[in-house]
Amino acid sequence: MSKLNILMIAGTRPNFIKLAPLYHRLKKENDIDIKICHTGQHYDKNMSDVFWEYLELPEPNYALGIGGGTVPEVIGNTTVALANLMQKADPTYDLVIVFGDVNATVSGAITATQLGIPVMHVEAGLRSFDRSMPEEINRVITDHISEYLMVSEYSGLEHLQKEGIEPSKIHFVGNIMIETLINTRSKWESVALPDEVKDFISKPFAVCTFHRPENVDVPSQLEIVARRLLSLSTWMPVVFPVHPRTKARLEKSGLYQLLVENENIKLLPPLGYFEFLSLVSKSAIVITDSGGIQEETAFLGKPCVTIRKNTERPITITEGTNILMDLHNEDFLSFVQTHQDNLKKTDLNPIKFWDNKVSERILDVIKQCRVKK
Ligand code: UDP
Repeated sequence: MSKLNILMIAGTRPNFIKLAPLYHRLKKENDIDIKICHTGQHYDKNMSDVFWEYLELPEPNYALGIGGGTVPEVIGNTTVALANLMQKADPTYDLVIVFGDVNATVSGAITATQLGIPVMHVEAGLRSFDRSMPEEINRVITDHISEYLMVSEYSGLEHLQKEGIEPSKIHFVGNIMIETLINTRSKWESVALPDEVKDFISKPFAVCTFHRPENVDVPSQLEIVARRLLSLSTWMPVVFPVHPRTKARLEKSGLYQLLVENENIKLLPPLGYFEFLSLVSKSAIVITDSGGIQEETAFLGKPCVTIRKNTERPITITEGTNILMDLHNEDFLSFVQTHQDNLKKTDLNPIKFWDNKVSERILDVIKQCRVKK
């Protein structure tokens, strides 16, 4: 029997984290041939290379080097480059696997589907119901053209069923980002943090991350984000690893300097995955607009205030430690202070399938592709 030819596509930091456990699991199968394509959406050393190194991933078989640009530019360029790659493949791919909700996800799904290659979407069914988020559009399109939908939490099952997706395509496999967190626990628990944060983390401290367009692309919103950080810093030290997109916007508006000058705020470049998880695990509270960090804090029992109007990961609120907060809430500090105590959980019930068997469950589904071949 010929090998099952699989192409995995990843473009961003959270994609690499989701790809790693599945790659390592599939690599052990003799009858699967697996290739990785890095689209190049995130390309800096600290947004890309460090993740490949820490997660022990090999050099990607294909690096498209697409880089930044507007959403249509990135999706367009990635789709053209992926079409070239997939059309040249010999033997042809039997399955393309995409992850999460970024431009690489939707580009991979569209290209493969147009070429008649079945697509597996890992982290299917999540919905914020907010079409102003580019990620929401990517999720909906990807889910509706994929053959195999790997769902991470109950809400994903409900959404896909309500949207009329054939039940046989939907598989509840769990949260693969949590598998990576569990698999690497000994590494991130023992990693050394940069010397420059030592003073900040010697007492209770907050970790902040912001990169969503609604918070950082509009100057008036970004200014409120900066004001919130300044107000937070009157309560406890703030450690803020700054996403490149956010840094560029803060510098342009002059707010970066204002934050740098505050002695209770530590701005850092984006951290490696181990350093970041170590920091979160030691912190008193996390303030974020990230998707993945809502899940990691829910799993770790760490209070998390998400500065967004909605979340596509509602289980982090109902069964985890997350709460949403509007950026415009003038009672920001008292809100955060109240929830730091309320959200703290040491006796969390495990969330179903947020474990280290997610890649195993996905492999079971992939074996069905083998049957169909
Ligand atoms: N992360 C990291 N270093 C940082 C900030 C985040 O390694 O400085 C990790 C974090 O642990 C999580 C992932 O990056 O696993 C989340 O990525 P991001 O917030 O960029 O994307 P989103 O999840 O919002 O799509």
